[in-house]
Amino acid sequence: MPTEKLNPFKIAQQQLDTAAKILNLDPEIHQALRWPMREIHISFPVRMDNGKTKTFHGFRVQYNDARGPCKGGIRFHPEETIDTVRALGAWMVWKTALLDLPLGGAKGGVICNPKELSDYELEKICRAYIAQLAFALGSDKDVPAPDVYTNPQIMAWMLDEFQKIKGSHDPGMITGKPLAIGGSEGREDATARGSLYATREAAKLLKLDLKKATVAIQGFGNAGYFLAKLCPEILGAKVVAVSDSKGGIFSEEGLDIDKVLAHKKKTGSVNCFPKTKKISNEEILELEVDILFPAALEDVITKENASKIKAKILGEAANGPTTPEADEILYKKGVFVIPDFLCNAGGVTVSYFEWVQNLYNYYWELDTVHKRLETKMVKAFKSVVETAKKYKVNNRMGAYIVAVERVAEAMKLRGWV
Ligand code: NAD
Repeated sequence: MPTEKLNPFKIAQQQLDTAAKILNLDPEIHQALRWPMREIHISFPVRMDNGKTKTFHGFRVQYNDARGPCKGGIRFHPEETIDTVRALGAWMVWKTALLDLPLGGAKGGVICNPKELSDYELEKICRAYIAQLAFALGSDKDVPAPDVYTNPQIMAWMLDEFQKIKGSHDPGMITGKPLAIGGSEGREDATARGSLYATREAAKLLKLDLKKATVAIQGFGNAGYFLAKLCPEILGAKVVAVSDSKGGIFSEEGLDIDKVLAHKKKTGSVNCFPKTKKISNEEILELEVDILFPAALEDVITKENASKIKAKILGEAANGPTTPEADEILYKKGVFVIPDFLCNAGGVTVSYFEWVQNLYNYYWELDTVHKRLETKMVKAFKSVVETAKKYKVNNRMGAYIVAVERVAEAMKLRGWV
């Protein structure tokens, strides 16, 4: 659990404060942007397989909708807190603005451990979560998506519950759905694909020879697995280390990712994959690699370990992996950081494509999704780098400046401030 000092929401506010100072942001807009516009706390009893009921607690934070309906994933995690959800909601606002999507930002979560739940219990939690929040959701209000420990099946149950309550179809009320019920081609690997497009642009800037480059990835879920899988195809680089919550593996020759996945499916972890060296989740961050992708949870790169990061490019596939103090250290060290709300924006971008397809009920080919995603990612990447250069700040601040200016303009036009 993040300590008070590493409270993700405090970090998100601190990042905004820094951007506001650089931008000379109108104090009234700054004040309004420091807090979520609306947050809903829910509790609901669920009858478990043992016949007893258990009460779960959850949240939905609708941070800001000046640019369009709120958009953001739902996490199921035993250590979920309102402050994590607030921070993630804020980062969604900046992410949709940076990618110039006509959406606001939100996030949701349920405090639970899916690893300890049966499928039946999980389904009941999903349905109860939606039943409590249906009044606040919808394709024109707030559109959830998958995040940590939630997946397309969970989106399908949630959509079904929502439609039962409303008595009508609204596939655009949630994204990251399976294809058969209105999902988009290319959504599954979109986060990783977007990160890799951004990393390729960073490598061009740094003149890094990707064919000789090595990659380490912390986290082996949706973001981390597809990063590993697509790395050779999009970057031509070699993945030498991956990890999950139980630890990591390293092989100088490179990992066969399909085999690692099969091993994880069989044993529950990437650990003990044959012919690899066991490494910890701390060690994986400090490996001698060219590119490092934290793709698990927040606050993993701190002032304690930032100076030990050896990667030339840090692609923040996870949300909030780097604390502000660590950011400073990395900037001084010359590590090229692709900040989270740029690096992992591929997910929400294809979620946006999914929402668009749902709204006009006409579906695109995979190739169209990939091309449009690439265009969006490259454009956003360039805007961040140019802005960082113009203001002589790090890439994270570059991204903040682009995003905050866009949200502030929408708030002013609406007459909110
Ligand atoms: P996931 O649930 O699919 O996978 C999470 C992975 O992290 C698992 O492999 C798990 O074992 C690992 N993990 C958990 N605790 C860990 C720890 N302490 N150390 C190392 N590994 C640990 O989740 P995901 O969707 O891949 O999300 C990962 C990160 O990417 C999160 O920060 C999420 O917010 C971000 N993200 C995901 C998406 C998306 O589309 N899935 C989009 C944007 C951002």
